[in-house]
Amino acid sequence: MESLRFKAINNLSSQPPVDVEKCAKITGIFGANVFTLATAREFLSDEAYKSLVNSIKGNKKIDRVMANQIAAGVRQWAESRGVTHYTHWFQPLTGTTAEKHDSFFTIKGDGTPIETFEGDALIQQEPDASSFPNGGIRATFEARGYTAWDPSSPAFIMEIGNGKTLCIPTIFVSYTGETLDYKAPLLKSLETLNKAAVDVCNYFDKNISKVTATLGWEQEYFLIDEAMFNARPDLILSGRTVFGHAPAKGQQLEDHYFGSIPERFYGFMRDFEAESYKLGIPLRTRHNEVAPAQFECAPIYEEVSIAVDHNTLLMDVMDRVARRHKLRVLFHEKPFAGVNGSGKHNNWSLATDTGVNLLAPGKTPKTNLMFLTFFVNTIKAVHDYADILRAAIASAGNDHRLGANEAPPAIISVFIGQYLTKVLNDVKARVGDSFDEQDEAILKLDLHRSIPELLLDNTDRNRTSPFAFTGNKFEFRAVGSTANCASPMTSLNTIMAATLKQFKKDVDSLIEKGDKKEIAIMQVIREYIVSSEKILFEGDGYSQEWHNEAAKRGLPNLPTTPVALDAMITEKAIHLYESNNVMSHKEIEARHEIELEKYIKRVQIEARIMGELCTSHILPAAINYQNTLINNIKGLKEIGIAEDSYANQKQILVKISEHINKVSDLVEKMIDARKVANKIEHSRDKAIAYQTTVKDQYFDSIRYHVDKLELLVADQYWVLPKYREMLFLR
Ligand code: ADP
Ligand code: MG
Repeated sequence: MESLRFKAINNLSSQPPVDVEKCAKITGIFGANVFTLATAREFLSDEAYKSLVNSIKGNKKIDRVMANQIAAGVRQWAESRGVTHYTHWFQPLTGTTAEKHDSFFTIKGDGTPIETFEGDALIQQEPDASSFPNGGIRATFEARGYTAWDPSSPAFIMEIGNGKTLCIPTIFVSYTGETLDYKAPLLKSLETLNKAAVDVCNYFDKNISKVTATLGWEQEYFLIDEAMFNARPDLILSGRTVFGHAPAKGQQLEDHYFGSIPERFYGFMRDFEAESYKLGIPLRTRHNEVAPAQFECAPIYEEVSIAVDHNTLLMDVMDRVARRHKLRVLFHEKPFAGVNGSGKHNNWSLATDTGVNLLAPGKTPKTNLMFLTFFVNTIKAVHDYADILRAAIASAGNDHRLGANEAPPAIISVFIGQYLTKVLNDVKARVGDSFDEQDEAILKLDLHRSIPELLLDNTDRNRTSPFAFTGNKFEFRAVGSTANCASPMTSLNTIMAATLKQFKKDVDSLIEKGDKKEIAIMQVIREYIVSSEKILFEGDGYSQEWHNEAAKRGLPNLPTTPVALDAMITEKAIHLYESNNVMSHKEIEARHEIELEKYIKRVQIEARIMGELCTSHILPAAINYQNTLINNIKGLKEIGIAEDSYANQKQILVKISEHINKVSDLVEKMIDARKVANKIEHSRDKAIAYQTTVKDQYFDSIRYHVDKLELLVADQYWVLPKYREMLFLR
């Protein structure tokens, strides 16, 4: 029987590109499936509209009467677009999105069928939450959790085939009030950041009354043919290939990056982009990435909470649309060994309600000082809480990237470029311990005149830094491609808020002592530069020198998830999240537990699939070929051919036999190690056992022998699609 592998290869050429509707103008469809404020204006009464706008601004809760009116308007709009069902849409800690569909349809007491959508249904639902991770918060007897409408994120219509569903963005909370999703703490971190940042802004500009964080993510992914995917059980179950010999041609020719996009993939891109535009996701760029079959897309940045929703929504859309094109999107951080992995750079900045980007150098001395304040506070925040940022991006998948010399290392450092390094050095070098009146000269730091230089600095910017300043924003590059951005963003917002609060205290206390405001600000900035400069690094983050240097500087280097996660539950972290009203002690511990569980499950699944592939795919293929060789040698011997002339066959036979033995032996041992690990109760110990005694101990060694077999066994016997087929055939 023909194997799935050969079927997949044969089918490729008969795979016609799927017809994609031409989209003449993006503005023509942009936001068509979103209940935007403009739509709200059209479908809501003045009163209901005002109430919605107020609640979006975070000023006022919506009362029941208004909720009913808004719900009715939303339903009217949705029905005008052919929607029959609605769902609360949320982002549980599994890392995917969740929905439970209900129809508008119901039957009244007297038996009349009607379509209705009440305010209550808009505001709250009680999905059976027992199947979502809760880290021990929710005992089974109180398995209920509820979702609550988040008016700051607009409702939208998800089109799946011909079906259309109204999705209401919500947060997900346990019955006892603990948050169980990514969104709720993110919203709280934004609130706390807003207050802290406005207070500091008011030193410079009394008109600023709101500060929001902005996020522009860059999503990397791989695309492969569906039939190839289906012939790789490891991709299906774990999202990455656990075996596979590197192809003769990898990415060394660097011919993929910015190369032209293959037609079939191009069709997929146009298709998912159109879907995204309808959902209001402002996609802007698409291009090939470094590795073969790897791509990236990025939107125009938005407010963090919306950008987070849009990223999770996009991943969902891409996955669905890919199936339409008989393709599969791989979001895993490392689907293929030996070729680059995928990340999700998080470009982050702060914007005021007066339209100022706080991380863009200003045009006047005063705004420059404001820039410098926020710039230095960010550096200080990353310095003080580097371990917390590291924990926020820890996952089994990301462990393959961080520290693998292709993505930033697991050591958190900040790159600011040569020009700003000089500026900080200038500030630092000013007068011994204090600034006096003459030093007001420093306020005239003419940053703005040097912007061209600044930009120049950024064109050849450092790609090895996990956290880099890129002209008017910071780019957090260590985030993994599967991540929900809410996790790193919540941490970043919170540490920034904490740092800004401290900054305000420090400045105020100098002012109380009689310093002039600007002098006090400069003074504290200077202190912060001095106390956090060890986090600054401009060199090659991949180099051994940096690892040594970082160790000398005392910067943490935690390459593995189980240990990196410790930073979530230190006294420092708990104090940080509690005092900023982002998460309670209980919530943080639950999240820590969930992350450990996720890690354990990932490694467990990978170990299982490795074992299964060896026994059911690899070894049978190798033994088949082994038998062919044995028969061949026997035959040659039988007809009296001199032994010398089949020495080669014998040698191959010996090698294959050795690898077969090794594989089956190592797999047995790995299974034993897994059994031992499974008995461990405590999650952290169990995660570490999985990492050290299962993954580190066996994954690479088993793979080594399997990949050797792939080279030795005749191609026709091999049933798993090979790297060159998955990455280069299209
Ligand atoms: P590169 O690949 O060179 O890093 P891209 O242009 O692909 O750059 O991505 C840059 C991302 O940064 C985009 O998503 C862009 O919208 C985003 N960005 C630009 N300015 C800001 C800002 N002020 N805040 C947040 N993100 C921003
Ligand atoms: Mg980037």
